[in-house]
Amino acid sequence: MDLFEYQGKQYFARYDIPVSPGDVAYTVDEAVAAAEMAGYPVVVKAQVQVGGRGKAGGIKLADNADEVRLHAGNILGMDIKGHLVKRVWVEHASDISKEYYASYSLDRGAKKHLLMLSAEGGVEIEAVAVSNPDAIVLLHIDPVDGISLATARDAAVRADIDAEAVDGVAEMLVKLYDCFTRGDCDLAEINPLILRPDGGVHALDAKVSLDNNAAFRHPEWDEFRATEELDEREQLARTHDLQYIGLEGSVGIIANGAGLAMSTLDVVNQVGGAASNFLDIGGGANADMMTAALEVINSDQSVKSIFINIFGGITRGEEVAKGIVEALRRVELRAPIVIRLDGTNAEEGRSILANAGIPESKLTSKPTMLEAARAAVALAKLGEASAELSTNERSN
Ligand code: GDP
Ligand code: MN
Repeated sequence: MDLFEYQGKQYFARYDIPVSPGDVAYTVDEAVAAAEMAGYPVVVKAQVQVGGRGKAGGIKLADNADEVRLHAGNILGMDIKGHLVKRVWVEHASDISKEYYASYSLDRGAKKHLLMLSAEGGVEIEAVAVSNPDAIVLLHIDPVDGISLATARDAAVRADIDAEAVDGVAEMLVKLYDCFTRGDCDLAEINPLILRPDGGVHALDAKVSLDNNAAFRHPEWDEFRATEELDEREQLARTHDLQYIGLEGSVGIIANGAGLAMSTLDVVNQVGGAASNFLDIGGGANADMMTAALEVINSDQSVKSIFINIFGGITRGEEVAKGIVEALRRVELRAPIVIRLDGTNAEEGRSILANAGIPESKLTSKPTMLEAARAAVALAKLGEASAELSTNERSN
Protein backbone atom coordinates (compact mmCIF):
# COMPACT_ATOMS: atom_id res chain seq x y z
CA MET A 1 0.00 0.00 0.00
CA ASP A 2 1.43 3.35 -1.07
CA LEU A 3 1.06 6.29 1.32
CA PHE A 4 0.55 9.93 0.49
CA GLU A 5 3.40 12.26 1.49
CA TYR A 6 1.51 13.54 4.54
CA GLN A 7 0.83 10.00 5.74
CA GLY A 8 4.46 9.07 5.13
CA LYS A 9 5.52 12.03 7.26
CA GLN A 10 3.09 11.05 10.01
CA TYR A 11 4.58 7.55 9.82
CA PHE A 12 8.14 8.93 9.97
CA ALA A 13 7.24 11.00 13.02
CA ARG A 14 6.34 7.81 14.90
CA TYR A 15 9.92 6.69 14.48
CA ASP A 16 11.34 9.99 15.62
CA ILE A 17 12.34 11.13 12.13
CA PRO A 18 12.15 14.93 12.08
CA VAL A 19 9.63 16.48 9.65
CA SER A 20 8.25 20.02 9.33
CA PRO A 21 5.14 20.85 11.34
CA GLY A 22 2.01 20.92 9.19
CA ASP A 23 -1.44 19.59 8.52
CA VAL A 24 -3.53 18.10 5.74
CA ALA A 25 -6.33 20.21 4.19
CA TYR A 26 -9.25 19.34 1.94
CA THR A 27 -10.46 22.91 1.40
CA VAL A 28 -8.97 26.39 1.05
CA ASP A 29 -10.21 27.35 4.52
CA GLU A 30 -8.62 24.28 6.04
CA ALA A 31 -5.39 25.14 4.23
CA VAL A 32 -5.36 28.62 5.79
CA ALA A 33 -6.04 27.15 9.23
CA ALA A 34 -3.18 24.68 8.71
CA ALA A 35 -0.87 27.51 7.65
CA GLU A 36 -1.70 29.56 10.76
CA MET A 37 -0.84 26.54 12.90
CA ALA A 38 2.40 25.78 11.05
CA GLY A 39 3.54 29.41 10.98
CA TYR A 40 4.45 31.48 7.90
CA PRO A 41 6.12 31.10 5.47
CA VAL A 42 4.52 27.81 4.45
CA VAL A 43 4.62 25.38 1.54
CA VAL A 44 1.36 24.18 0.02
CA LYS A 45 1.88 20.71 -1.45
CA ALA A 46 -0.44 18.68 -3.68
CA GLN A 47 -1.03 15.20 -2.25
CA VAL A 48 -0.89 12.77 -5.14
CA GLN A 49 1.03 9.54 -5.44
CA VAL A 50 3.27 10.64 -8.27
CA GLY A 51 6.65 12.38 -8.36
CA GLY A 52 7.58 15.70 -9.97
CA ARG A 53 4.78 17.62 -8.29
CA GLY A 54 6.92 20.75 -8.09
CA LYS A 55 7.43 20.97 -11.84
CA ALA A 56 3.71 20.40 -12.40
CA GLY A 57 2.85 23.46 -10.26
CA GLY A 58 1.69 21.37 -7.31
CA ILE A 59 4.12 22.83 -4.76
CA LYS A 60 4.01 26.55 -3.86
CA LEU A 61 5.47 28.76 -1.16
CA ALA A 62 3.14 31.19 0.60
CA ASP A 63 3.97 34.10 2.93
CA ASN A 64 0.48 34.95 4.11
CA ALA A 65 -3.14 33.81 4.19
CA ASP A 66 -3.97 35.43 0.83
CA GLU A 67 -1.20 33.51 -0.88
CA VAL A 68 -2.30 30.29 0.78
CA ARG A 69 -5.83 30.92 -0.52
CA LEU A 70 -4.53 31.55 -4.01
CA HIS A 71 -2.25 28.50 -4.17
CA ALA A 72 -4.52 26.04 -2.34
CA GLY A 73 -7.37 27.17 -4.60
CA ASN A 74 -5.28 26.45 -7.68
CA ILE A 75 -3.80 23.18 -6.49
CA LEU A 76 -6.97 21.56 -5.10
CA GLY A 77 -8.72 19.94 -8.03
CA MET A 78 -5.60 20.11 -10.20
CA ASP A 79 -4.75 17.16 -12.43
CA ILE A 80 -1.15 16.02 -12.01
CA LYS A 81 -0.17 13.32 -14.50
CA GLY A 82 -3.67 11.86 -14.38
CA HIS A 83 -3.98 12.12 -10.58
CA LEU A 84 -6.70 14.40 -9.20
CA VAL A 85 -5.58 16.49 -6.22
CA LYS A 86 -8.15 16.02 -3.44
CA ARG A 87 -6.02 17.31 -0.55
CA VAL A 88 -2.99 19.45 0.14
CA TRP A 89 -0.38 19.26 2.86
CA VAL A 90 0.57 22.64 4.33
CA GLU A 91 3.79 22.80 6.32
CA HIS A 92 6.16 25.41 7.68
CA ALA A 93 8.62 26.24 4.90
CA SER A 94 12.23 25.27 5.45
CA ASP A 95 15.42 27.06 4.48
CA ILE A 96 17.50 24.69 2.42
CA SER A 97 21.30 24.57 2.19
CA LYS A 98 21.56 21.16 0.52
CA GLU A 99 19.22 18.46 -0.77
CA TYR A 100 20.19 14.79 -0.34
CA TYR A 101 18.56 11.47 -1.13
CA ALA A 102 18.10 8.45 1.16
CA SER A 103 16.03 5.29 0.84
CA TYR A 104 15.70 1.72 2.02
CA SER A 105 14.16 -1.00 -0.07
CA LEU A 106 14.36 -4.77 -0.29
CA ASP A 107 16.81 -6.35 -2.71
CA ARG A 108 15.14 -9.71 -3.26
CA GLY A 109 18.01 -11.07 -5.36
CA ALA A 110 20.56 -10.37 -2.64
CA LYS A 111 18.10 -11.30 0.16
CA LYS A 112 19.17 -8.11 1.90
CA HIS A 113 17.95 -4.62 2.58
CA LEU A 114 19.36 -1.96 0.33
CA LEU A 115 20.34 1.55 1.41
CA MET A 116 20.63 4.12 -1.36
CA LEU A 117 22.24 7.38 -0.38
CA SER A 118 23.26 10.35 -2.47
CA ALA A 119 24.41 13.92 -1.98
CA GLU A 120 22.51 14.72 -5.18
CA GLY A 121 18.93 14.78 -3.93
CA GLY A 122 15.89 16.83 -4.81
CA VAL A 123 15.86 15.52 -8.37
CA GLU A 124 14.57 12.11 -9.44
CA ILE A 125 17.04 9.45 -8.37
CA GLU A 126 16.50 7.59 -11.64
CA ALA A 127 17.95 10.62 -13.44
CA VAL A 128 21.00 10.66 -11.14
CA ALA A 129 21.44 6.91 -11.72
CA VAL A 130 21.73 7.65 -15.45
CA SER A 131 23.74 10.90 -15.44
CA ASN A 132 26.03 10.24 -12.51
CA PRO A 133 25.72 6.69 -11.11
CA ASP A 134 28.82 7.11 -8.95
CA ALA A 135 27.00 9.76 -6.96
CA ILE A 136 24.75 7.07 -5.45
CA VAL A 137 26.11 4.90 -2.66
CA LEU A 138 24.52 1.45 -2.51
CA LEU A 139 24.88 -0.50 0.70
CA HIS A 140 23.43 -3.94 1.37
CA ILE A 141 22.34 -4.53 4.94
CA ASP A 142 21.93 -7.95 6.46
CA PRO A 143 18.52 -7.85 8.17
CA VAL A 144 19.92 -9.89 11.06
CA ASP A 145 22.57 -7.27 11.82
CA GLY A 146 20.75 -4.07 10.88
CA ILE A 147 22.70 -0.83 10.44
CA SER A 148 24.91 0.71 13.13
CA LEU A 149 25.55 4.41 13.55
CA ALA A 150 29.19 3.83 12.53
CA THR A 151 28.20 2.08 9.29
CA ALA A 152 25.67 4.82 8.53
CA ARG A 153 28.38 7.41 9.10
CA ASP A 154 30.74 5.62 6.71
CA ALA A 155 28.03 5.53 4.07
CA ALA A 156 27.40 9.28 4.51
CA VAL A 157 31.12 10.05 4.12
CA ARG A 158 31.37 7.83 1.06
CA ALA A 159 28.36 9.59 -0.47
CA ASP A 160 30.10 12.98 -0.12
CA ILE A 161 27.53 14.31 2.30
CA ASP A 162 28.79 17.71 3.54
CA ALA A 163 30.96 17.39 6.66
CA GLU A 164 28.59 19.38 8.88
CA ALA A 165 25.69 17.13 7.89
CA VAL A 166 27.36 13.73 8.29
CA ASP A 167 26.31 13.14 11.91
CA GLY A 168 22.75 14.30 11.29
CA VAL A 169 22.40 12.18 8.18
CA ALA A 170 23.87 9.11 9.93
CA GLU A 171 21.37 9.47 12.78
CA MET A 172 18.60 9.87 10.25
CA LEU A 173 19.69 6.69 8.44
CA VAL A 174 19.48 4.67 11.65
CA LYS A 175 16.00 6.01 12.41
CA LEU A 176 14.81 5.48 8.86
CA TYR A 177 16.03 1.88 9.01
CA ASP A 178 14.06 1.40 12.21
CA CYS A 179 10.98 2.78 10.46
CA PHE A 180 11.60 0.58 7.42
CA THR A 181 11.95 -2.65 9.42
CA ARG A 182 9.71 -2.24 12.49
CA GLY A 183 7.27 -0.25 10.39
CA ASP A 184 7.12 -3.05 7.78
CA CYS A 185 7.81 -0.91 4.71
CA ASP A 186 8.60 -2.15 1.22
CA LEU A 187 10.07 1.27 0.54
CA ALA A 188 10.99 4.21 2.77
CA GLU A 189 12.39 7.11 0.76
CA ILE A 190 13.31 10.68 1.69
CA ASN A 191 13.92 12.97 -1.29
CA PRO A 192 14.98 15.57 -0.45
CA LEU A 193 16.58 14.96 2.89
CA ILE A 194 17.76 18.48 3.64
CA LEU A 195 20.58 20.22 5.41
CA ARG A 196 19.37 23.54 6.85
CA PRO A 197 21.54 26.64 7.25
CA ASP A 198 21.38 26.07 11.03
CA GLY A 199 23.05 22.69 10.52
CA GLY A 200 19.96 20.59 11.20
CA VAL A 201 18.88 17.71 8.99
CA HIS A 202 15.29 16.74 8.28
CA ALA A 203 12.87 15.05 5.87
CA LEU A 204 11.21 17.40 3.38
CA ASP A 205 9.40 14.68 1.43
CA ALA A 206 8.26 11.13 2.23
CA LYS A 207 7.59 8.20 -0.03
CA VAL A 208 6.47 5.16 1.91
CA SER A 209 5.09 1.89 0.65
CA LEU A 210 3.82 -0.54 3.27
CA ASP A 211 4.09 -4.31 3.02
CA ASN A 212 0.48 -5.55 2.93
CA ASN A 213 1.59 -8.96 4.22
CA ALA A 214 2.35 -7.32 7.57
CA ALA A 215 -1.04 -5.61 7.87
CA PHE A 216 -2.13 -8.09 10.57
CA ARG A 217 0.27 -6.54 13.07
CA HIS A 218 -0.63 -2.95 12.19
CA PRO A 219 -4.24 -2.14 13.07
CA GLU A 220 -3.21 1.53 12.77
CA TRP A 221 -2.87 1.08 8.99
CA ASP A 222 -6.68 1.08 8.68
CA GLU A 223 -6.64 4.88 8.53
CA PHE A 224 -4.30 4.72 5.50
CA ARG A 225 -6.47 2.06 3.90
CA ALA A 226 -9.42 4.47 4.04
CA THR A 227 -7.77 6.89 1.60
CA GLU A 228 -6.14 4.28 -0.61
CA GLU A 229 -6.69 4.91 -4.31
CA LEU A 230 -7.36 1.68 -6.22
CA ASP A 231 -8.76 1.36 -9.69
CA GLU A 232 -12.38 0.17 -9.96
CA ARG A 233 -11.41 -3.38 -10.81
CA GLU A 234 -9.10 -3.59 -7.81
CA GLN A 235 -11.80 -2.19 -5.54
CA LEU A 236 -14.27 -4.84 -6.72
CA ALA A 237 -11.63 -7.55 -6.28
CA ARG A 238 -10.96 -6.40 -2.74
CA THR A 239 -14.63 -6.71 -1.77
CA HIS A 240 -14.37 -10.37 -2.84
CA ASP A 241 -11.02 -10.94 -1.06
CA LEU A 242 -9.31 -11.80 -4.33
CA GLN A 243 -5.57 -11.51 -4.95
CA TYR A 244 -5.99 -9.27 -7.99
CA ILE A 245 -3.75 -6.72 -9.70
CA GLY A 246 -5.03 -4.76 -12.70
CA LEU A 247 -2.84 -4.60 -15.82
CA GLU A 248 -3.19 -3.04 -19.27
CA GLY A 249 -3.68 -6.01 -21.65
CA SER A 250 -6.71 -7.80 -23.11
CA VAL A 251 -6.37 -11.39 -21.84
CA GLY A 252 -8.08 -11.92 -18.49
CA ILE A 253 -6.17 -14.36 -16.27
CA ILE A 254 -7.41 -16.71 -13.57
CA ALA A 255 -4.92 -19.17 -12.10
CA ASN A 256 -4.53 -21.08 -8.86
CA GLY A 257 -1.36 -20.16 -7.02
CA ALA A 258 0.68 -16.98 -7.34
CA GLY A 259 3.54 -18.79 -9.08
CA LEU A 260 1.27 -20.29 -11.71
CA ALA A 261 -0.48 -16.95 -12.20
CA MET A 262 2.90 -15.28 -12.80
CA SER A 263 3.98 -17.96 -15.29
CA THR A 264 0.63 -17.58 -17.03
CA LEU A 265 1.34 -13.88 -17.57
CA ASP A 266 4.75 -14.83 -18.97
CA VAL A 267 3.36 -17.42 -21.37
CA VAL A 268 0.68 -15.04 -22.63
CA ASN A 269 3.45 -12.53 -23.26
CA GLN A 270 5.64 -15.13 -24.94
CA VAL A 271 2.96 -15.87 -27.55
CA GLY A 272 2.44 -12.19 -28.32
CA GLY A 273 -0.45 -11.25 -26.03
CA ALA A 274 -0.83 -9.10 -22.93
CA ALA A 275 -2.65 -9.89 -19.71
CA SER A 276 -5.33 -7.58 -18.33
CA ASN A 277 -4.63 -8.68 -14.79
CA PHE A 278 -2.95 -10.95 -12.29
CA LEU A 279 -5.43 -13.07 -10.35
CA ASP A 280 -4.61 -15.92 -7.98
CA ILE A 281 -7.72 -17.75 -6.74
CA GLY A 282 -5.58 -19.84 -4.42
CA GLY A 283 -6.02 -23.45 -3.37
CA GLY A 284 -9.43 -25.12 -3.04
CA ALA A 285 -11.26 -22.60 -5.22
CA ASN A 286 -15.02 -23.13 -5.19
CA ALA A 287 -17.92 -21.89 -7.30
CA ASP A 288 -18.27 -18.69 -5.27
CA MET A 289 -14.65 -17.74 -5.80
CA MET A 290 -14.77 -18.61 -9.48
CA THR A 291 -17.91 -16.50 -9.89
CA ALA A 292 -16.30 -13.59 -8.08
CA ALA A 293 -13.15 -13.90 -10.18
CA LEU A 294 -15.12 -13.96 -13.43
CA GLU A 295 -17.23 -11.01 -12.28
CA VAL A 296 -14.16 -8.86 -11.65
CA ILE A 297 -12.58 -9.80 -14.98
CA ASN A 298 -15.88 -9.28 -16.76
CA SER A 299 -16.15 -5.73 -15.36
CA ASP A 300 -13.03 -4.80 -17.31
CA GLN A 301 -14.01 -3.44 -20.75
CA SER A 302 -10.61 -4.18 -22.28
CA VAL A 303 -10.84 -7.94 -21.63
CA LYS A 304 -11.37 -9.81 -24.92
CA SER A 305 -10.67 -13.38 -23.79
CA ILE A 306 -10.32 -15.16 -20.46
CA PHE A 307 -7.59 -17.69 -19.80
CA ILE A 308 -8.28 -20.00 -16.86
CA ASN A 309 -5.13 -21.91 -15.97
CA ILE A 310 -5.55 -24.51 -13.24
CA PHE A 311 -3.07 -27.09 -12.09
CA GLY A 312 -4.90 -29.02 -9.40
CA GLY A 313 -3.02 -30.02 -6.28
CA ILE A 314 -5.25 -29.31 -3.33
CA THR A 315 -7.60 -27.73 -5.83
CA ARG A 316 -9.65 -30.48 -7.44
CA GLY A 317 -10.52 -30.42 -11.14
CA GLU A 318 -14.18 -31.26 -10.70
CA GLU A 319 -14.65 -28.46 -8.14
CA VAL A 320 -13.15 -25.96 -10.55
CA ALA A 321 -15.36 -27.24 -13.38
CA LYS A 322 -18.49 -27.04 -11.23
CA GLY A 323 -17.45 -23.54 -10.25
CA ILE A 324 -17.14 -22.44 -13.86
CA VAL A 325 -20.48 -23.99 -14.85
CA GLU A 326 -22.17 -22.31 -11.88
CA ALA A 327 -20.40 -19.00 -12.59
CA LEU A 328 -21.53 -19.07 -16.23
CA ARG A 329 -25.08 -19.41 -14.96
CA ARG A 330 -24.70 -16.36 -12.75
CA VAL A 331 -22.56 -14.05 -14.91
CA GLU A 332 -23.18 -13.11 -18.55
CA LEU A 333 -19.62 -13.07 -19.86
CA ARG A 334 -18.58 -10.61 -22.59
CA ALA A 335 -15.52 -12.65 -23.58
CA PRO A 336 -14.87 -16.33 -24.36
CA ILE A 337 -13.02 -18.61 -21.94
CA VAL A 338 -10.06 -20.82 -22.77
CA ILE A 339 -9.29 -23.32 -20.05
CA ARG A 340 -6.33 -25.50 -19.32
CA LEU A 341 -7.22 -27.90 -16.55
CA ASP A 342 -4.63 -30.34 -15.28
CA GLY A 343 -3.64 -32.16 -12.09
CA THR A 344 -5.92 -33.67 -9.46
CA ASN A 345 -9.20 -34.95 -10.97
CA ALA A 346 -8.63 -33.08 -14.22
CA GLU A 347 -10.40 -35.82 -16.23
CA GLU A 348 -13.57 -35.49 -14.15
CA GLY A 349 -13.38 -31.74 -14.46
CA ARG A 350 -13.02 -31.77 -18.22
CA SER A 351 -15.95 -34.16 -18.63
CA ILE A 352 -18.16 -31.97 -16.42
CA LEU A 353 -17.34 -28.99 -18.68
CA ALA A 354 -17.84 -31.05 -21.85
CA ASN A 355 -21.26 -32.25 -20.69
CA ALA A 356 -22.53 -28.91 -19.36
CA GLY A 357 -23.88 -27.84 -22.74
CA ILE A 358 -21.68 -24.74 -22.93
CA PRO A 359 -21.26 -23.69 -26.58
CA GLU A 360 -17.75 -23.89 -28.05
CA SER A 361 -17.86 -20.16 -28.73
CA LYS A 362 -17.99 -19.54 -24.98
CA LEU A 363 -15.54 -22.10 -23.69
CA THR A 364 -12.72 -24.14 -25.19
CA SER A 365 -10.48 -26.56 -23.39
CA LYS A 366 -6.80 -27.06 -24.27
CA PRO A 367 -4.49 -29.77 -22.94
CA THR A 368 -1.40 -27.59 -22.29
CA MET A 369 -0.66 -24.14 -20.94
CA LEU A 370 1.08 -23.11 -24.16
CA GLU A 371 -1.76 -24.18 -26.44
CA ALA A 372 -4.30 -22.54 -24.17
CA ALA A 373 -2.25 -19.32 -24.16
CA ARG A 374 -2.09 -19.33 -27.97
CA ALA A 375 -5.85 -19.84 -28.24
CA ALA A 376 -6.61 -17.12 -25.66
CA VAL A 377 -4.31 -14.61 -27.36
CA ALA A 378 -5.79 -15.40 -30.80
CA LEU A 379 -9.31 -14.84 -29.43
CA ALA A 380 -8.24 -11.61 -27.74
CA LYS A 381 -6.81 -10.28 -31.00
CA LEU A 382 -10.01 -11.20 -32.81
CA GLY A 383 -12.02 -9.43 -30.14
CA GLU A 384 -9.86 -6.31 -30.36
CA ALA A 385 -10.14 -6.28 -34.15
CA SER A 386 -13.92 -6.53 -34.10
CA ALA A 387 -14.18 -3.88 -31.37
CA GLU A 388 -12.10 -1.56 -33.55
CA LEU A 389 -14.27 -2.35 -36.56
CA SER A 390 -17.47 -1.45 -34.74
CA THR A 391 -15.95 1.80 -33.45
CA ASN A 392 -14.98 2.71 -37.01
CA GLU A 393 -18.45 1.89 -38.27
CA ARG A 394 -19.98 4.06 -35.61
CA SER A 395 -17.74 6.98 -36.51
CA ASN A 396 -18.37 6.59 -40.23
P1 GDP B 1 8.30 16.10 -5.51
O1 GDP B 1 8.95 16.96 -6.57
O2 GDP B 1 6.93 15.67 -5.93
O3 GDP B 1 9.16 14.96 -5.09
O4 GDP B 1 8.08 17.05 -4.23
P2 GDP B 1 9.08 17.43 -3.03
O5 GDP B 1 8.33 17.39 -1.77
O6 GDP B 1 10.32 16.60 -3.08
O7 GDP B 1 9.45 18.94 -3.33
C1 GDP B 1 10.07 19.31 -4.54
C2 GDP B 1 11.02 20.47 -4.28
O8 GDP B 1 10.31 21.60 -3.77
C3 GDP B 1 12.08 20.17 -3.26
O9 GDP B 1 13.17 19.47 -3.81
C4 GDP B 1 12.46 21.58 -2.80
O10 GDP B 1 13.43 22.12 -3.68
C5 GDP B 1 11.16 22.35 -2.93
N1 GDP B 1 10.58 22.50 -1.58
C6 GDP B 1 9.74 21.66 -0.95
N2 GDP B 1 9.48 22.08 0.31
C7 GDP B 1 10.21 23.21 0.48
C8 GDP B 1 10.42 24.10 1.59
O11 GDP B 1 9.90 23.94 2.70
N3 GDP B 1 11.25 25.17 1.38
C9 GDP B 1 11.87 25.38 0.18
N4 GDP B 1 12.66 26.43 0.06
N5 GDP B 1 11.71 24.56 -0.87
C10 GDP B 1 10.90 23.49 -0.72
MN1 MN C 1 10.46 14.53 -3.59
